[in-house]
Amino acid sequence: MKKDFRYSMSLVNGSVYRNGKFYLEDIYISDQKITKIVPSGKTLLCKKIVDCTNKLVLPGFIDPHVHINLDLGEFKSSDDYESASKAAAFGGITTFIDFLEPINNIDEFDKKLIQKHKEAENSYIDYSFHTTVGNYKDDVERLIEKTHENGIPSIKLFTTYSESNRKISLAKLQEFLSNSSKTDTLILIHAENDEIILNANVEDTVESYESSRPAIAEISEIKNIAKIAADCEGKLYIVHVTCGSSIEFLKENYQELLGKNIFIESCPQYFHLTKDLFNQENGNIFLLAPPLRSSEEQKKLKDNISSIHSIGTDHCPFTKEEKMRYKEASKIPKGLGSLEFSFSLMYYLFGNDIIDKFTINPAKIHNLYPKKGIIQVGSDADFVIFDPVKTQMIELGHSQSDYNPFESMVTNGMIESTILQGKFVVKNRKFVGGKRGQFIKRK
Ligand SMILES: [Zn+2]
Repeated sequence: MKKDFRYSMSLVNGSVYRNGKFYLEDIYISDQKITKIVPSGKTLLCKKIVDCTNKLVLPGFIDPHVHINLDLGEFKSSDDYESASKAAAFGGITTFIDFLEPINNIDEFDKKLIQKHKEAENSYIDYSFHTTVGNYKDDVERLIEKTHENGIPSIKLFTTYSESNRKISLAKLQEFLSNSSKTDTLILIHAENDEIILNANVEDTVESYESSRPAIAEISEIKNIAKIAADCEGKLYIVHVTCGSSIEFLKENYQELLGKNIFIESCPQYFHLTKDLFNQENGNIFLLAPPLRSSEEQKKLKDNISSIHSIGTDHCPFTKEEKMRYKEASKIPKGLGSLEFSFSLMYYLFGNDIIDKFTINPAKIHNLYPKKGIIQVGSDADFVIFDPVKTQMIELGHSQSDYNPFESMVTNGMIESTILQGKFVVKNRKFVGGKRGQFIKRK
């Protein structure tokens, strides 16, 4: 065995995922980066050799949609950076993207950014943020410039929540999208039609909750924003798409823009849970916005998986007591947690076809590529070591919430280890991380 201590670590004899295929290769790491990839066989002796025989070696996963420390006044979401990043690491996630609190004026930006940076100091994994605007009244171009200067090339808008002054005006929405391509800014949109929701006129109960924000509210709003994005050749990323019908509409009308000007994100909960859960006695604990849908929409969502670009969790858990505190759906904090199990939940349904939606796709869409999302020389040494044979029973996990909506489900495959920038965060299912997470400037 040849000694070569230029390398701090090697991952040997694993099936390495590159360009959509698996190769029996050895990966050599120097400090934080991948420095050499060679066919397995002649292992160079380096400081640390990790045997990955019979394991898949995947790029570290990226979750482009999480909410950490979300403050709703009476309620605050259960996870801070410490617990969220720990749960994420157990789920193979090495980078996640959180949201700055919504702003209506540009002067609020610095404060929100400083606040997030401070919260994130405790992260065990790498992170970034999206800027968020509410009923934004200020200069659009200046905000775009400012957010880029701070390494954040993405801005999220809402087409709903007028009651909490978060709904963007149509004129501003158009302005953001028109400026998006030339400035290379991704416009993330929470697409639900506010008017349909305001006029839904259903009881304020958990059982009626889905009808209060019905599928048609999402589908019709996606029609509106897709048309605007198409007309101005904008860069639109539709967050948490819940309905297969929404995707069918986009395919039928804007196929040529998908993956170019329009990107689709969905979340594990919409693939595994349906609105029938709202009729259960503990239906409250499944409440989130947009709501869970019918099994018909869920089936269509699964049938259209190949048109979905990335999977985010929209991680935003609360405790059981908080969820059960009120009978009125409007008063219940909305959100579920799935950071730790998102890959397992989706791998269970789609196998290897899901990998790109956790790696290279979100990396490219959210300007993390080629630093993240790919195993190649020069990229960050972020990996998941995955055993495709073992099965896993989903447990409570490491989130600070006291329930898991997917608890006791059995999935196939097991995330054994997670490596961030050349060091283990989770090793053989044990947490060994340190607070090494870094803010990743996305350019
Ligand atoms: Zn969200």
